[in-house]
Amino acid sequence: MKGFELVHPASLREAIAMLDTGDPSVRAFSGGTALMLMMKTGVFRPSRLVCLAGTETSRAAIAAKPDGALTIGALATLTGVEYSLDVIRFAPVIARAMKRLANVRVRNVARIGGSLAHGDPHMDLPPVLAALGAEVSIEGPKGQRRVAVENLYSGYYETVLTQGELIAAVHRDLKLTIILIEHRMDLVMAICPRLVVLNFGTKLTEGTQQEVQSNPAVLQAYLGAEYANVAGQ
Ligand SMILES: Cc1cc2nc3c(=O)[nH]c(=O)nc-3n(C[C@H](O)[C@H](O)[C@H](O)COP(=O)(O)OP(=O)(O)OC[C@H]3O[C@@H](n4cnc5c(N)ncnc54)[C@H](O)[C@@H]3O)c2cc1C
Repeated sequence: MKGFELVHPASLREAIAMLDTGDPSVRAFSGGTALMLMMKTGVFRPSRLVCLAGTETSRAAIAAKPDGALTIGALATLTGVEYSLDVIRFAPVIARAMKRLANVRVRNVARIGGSLAHGDPHMDLPPVLAALGAEVSIEGPKGQRRVAVENLYSGYYETVLTQGELIAAVHRDLKLTIILIEHRMDLVMAICPRLVVLNFGTKLTEGTQQEVQSNPAVLQAYLGAEYANVAGQ
């Protein structure tokens, strides 16, 4: 393996300056789980790795607003996301997807920023986050921008990130979701934290997953009166 420089910036701004060289073999290093594999096999030979671990600690934070909007810092580990009470409450499908992603050792070190920036088409998180309408905030030499996860990829292992740009956070703003009672309730509930339940055009109820699930009118419309009576006993 050819030698390379490993640098430790103390802030995101400093990291961006160290990455902004015009040389594609200068790369950010989050958890290193994907980079190490590529380096071991000789697919990637860096001239410089810019370690993001020492950039501001707030970059690993996970925050939720009362309406369910989520912000996950790019440096949050996949384990941190998996066990975040805010993620479990407002976007449980992300926590569930983690259980099948790689293994505990990888999830303990891999970061959500690296997981999205890697661009391997086999990866689990990009389609889940795209289905949730999530966006990434990107910071780079020319400032900040936001890109929907579904528009982040331009090809095989390729993203729309330009040299020097870093994913700073993942955002999932809450969008009110309307579902029809005759559709797959269990699947939709796994994705949407707040629901309006319609029964063939008539509004039955509105609320969180728990409120909707425990509403007898929903139970009756979904399962039929006879079954709902038995379930309610
Ligand atoms: C044994 C094993 C099993 C795996 N199984 C699965 C699986 O089942 N499902 C799955 O989805 N994935 C799987 N993976 C892939 C794993 O999810 C990725 O390796 C991991 O998410 C990458 O995150 P990282 O922080 O380690 O990224 P790194 O290796 O640090 O970086 C990956 C890429 O992203 C860039 N990068 C890192 N952080 C940023 C940032 N903030 N902004 C911009 N660019 C950045 C780096 O420069 C590099 O190009 C597996 C990996 C291993 C080693």
